[in-house]
Amino acid sequence: MQQDAATLQARLDALIRIAKSNERKQENFQKYELSLLNSNGLGELLALILEEHKVRFQLTEVTLLLLDPEYEFQRLIEASPNIPGWPKRLLFTDNHHTIAQYFSLQQRPRLTAFSPFQHQILFPGHSNLRSVALLPLVRQQRLIGSLNLGSRKAERFQANIGTQFLQHLAAVVSACLENARLHEHIKLVGLRDPLTGVNNRRFFDQRVEEEVSRALRTQSPLSCLFIDLDHFKRVNDQHGHQAGDILLKQVAEILNDSMRSCDVIARYGGEEFVALLADTTQSAASDIANRIRESIEATEFEVGHGIRLKQTLSIGLATLSDTNSIKNTRQLLQAADQAVYAAKLAGRNKVRLHGTS
Ligand code: GH3
Ligand code: MG
Ligand code: MG
Repeated sequence: MQQDAATLQARLDALIRIAKSNERKQENFQKYELSLLNSNGLGELLALILEEHKVRFQLTEVTLLLLDPEYEFQRLIEASPNIPGWPKRLLFTDNHHTIAQYFSLQQRPRLTAFSPFQHQILFPGHSNLRSVALLPLVRQQRLIGSLNLGSRKAERFQANIGTQFLQHLAAVVSACLENARLHEHIKLVGLRDPLTGVNNRRFFDQRVEEEVSRALRTQSPLSCLFIDLDHFKRVNDQHGHQAGDILLKQVAEILNDSMRSCDVIARYGGEEFVALLADTTQSAASDIANRIRESIEATEFEVGHGIRLKQTLSIGLATLSDTNSIKNTRQLLQAADQAVYAAKLAGRNKVRLHGTS
């Protein structure tokens, strides 16, 4: 009788322990979901998914594979200097099947033993996992990615474990990702010049401050090019505003193609562009500027109705560096502006460096 009571008590204790542990688990999930919903921007959201999640739920690895056929996510992330790339954890595919192969048509979470062969795509460079949970991310019945949780413990994810929490989590993550993508997209559109597709003045004004403080901090040179089309008014006067627009667009394309991926090019206003070349000395920037000047000079621009036009531009170059007196954003922009003015005075289709005549 006494023994029965003890057994019963032990069972009861075990049940209470399970209930308490479930309660803690639920609390943990709820707190995490709240932080996802309150996250501010794509960078913060990805950090929560790829970093916070791992620590909070004691996982060995968390990865995210996103379906990104038009490279939109990847472009957004590249365009945001404060979002890291999370190599081997933030993964992209342009093929729906790469993700769909892991899930049944019901698109339920999949809890299973880790197979290096099968799961290599989801956990690149990870071989010490024992069990995994693959959560399909779905929006409007469409698969947009998978959130992949890996554990070193074999018993962590097993087929018979309830997946309610995980299913809920996947729904929240999917909604947040879609939302953040949209927001980021709108932000980016607001920083782009609609005619030429390059960054606009607002974007430049933000970036130049960041680049200048980085250059000062790392004591590396930062070069700035002011680029102004020569006698552009004539194009409008002789061939109409639309021809001018087409020409501007083509010039912007050439400028954009002349830049390295770490450089910043923006339309500064009207027929003026500005470029920031990080880690670039005045002499290296001068070579780049001359190459740009020459390639524009060599181009025949087609502006419609079979009209082909020649165009030149003038470039003013200034460099923030240890070896001259340019020490802040205002001085850098002013110096580049003076240099482009000097290039105009010198007869146009020229590159002029600040501080030299
Ligand atoms: P300079 O060699 O001294 O720079 O001569 P310019 O004619 O290029 O310079 P100015 O500043 O006198 O004129 C700039 C012209 O650029 C006037 C304006 O109509 C034209 N422009 C500015 N923005 C646009 C645009 O978006 N589209 C078109 N078609 N023209 C533009
Ligand atoms: Mg001008
Ligand atoms: Mg001009």
